[in-house]
Amino acid sequence: MPAVCPRCFWLAMNADKPFQIFPGIFSAIDSYGKNVVHGWFDRYGKPPEWLAPLGKIRTYRNPPHFSKFAVLDEATSILLRGTPDGIFLMQDGSHTIIDYKTAKFTEYQDDLFPMYEAQLNAYAYIGERLDLKPVSKLALVYTEPVTGAAAAADDSNLTPEGFRMGFRARILEVEINPDLVSRLLKTAASILQSASPSAGIDGCKDCAALASLLRLASA
Ligand code: SF4
Repeated sequence: MPAVCPRCFWLAMNADKPFQIFPGIFSAIDSYGKNVVHGWFDRYGKPPEWLAPLGKIRTYRNPPHFSKFAVLDEATSILLRGTPDGIFLMQDGSHTIIDYKTAKFTEYQDDLFPMYEAQLNAYAYIGERLDLKPVSKLALVYTEPVTGAAAAADDSNLTPEGFRMGFRARILEVEINPDLVSRLLKTAASILQSASPSAGIDGCKDCAALASLLRLASA
């Protein structure tokens, strides 16, 4: 991220419980999207129409748990691991890795895009070193909630238990960039090798607020 704070990264990686920045509801929706796609494949033997921009998909592969989808980077001794939302085996034998994002589609204007780009490239980096070689495509699948007046006035969206909300899928391809992951691994190692956190970024009010709390607590 352009405004990354090395101090925050050091603290997050050394705290007992890593920080969670996303509310759990988004993970639930992303997981639901994955189950919808896999269920469609299982029933009809083909992907849903809205995945057509990804190219010719032969089938899906169940994303491995992060304990299995992991590689140790020898140069930095960092164990890089994660769990992609979706892996597709393409007709040409290569793989496409996707990640669902429940958010409005903004092409490359999403403030979090640099983080998503690193995330998907990390999956490609791991996949290429395990059994997903070659990874030919990376993509974000944005699922936008359909919340306009027409949807709200649609009687079929009301059920005896509550109401339904649809999602519109939009696909954004992300460039494969192995150098990005190597560079980030080196940066991460240089921050984590330090015995104590560096200074925070200038002007961050949260660190100043924490310092004043600690002063009060020790008074
Ligand atoms: S300066 Fe801000 S971003 Fe950095 S460690 Fe402090 S609270 Fe976190």
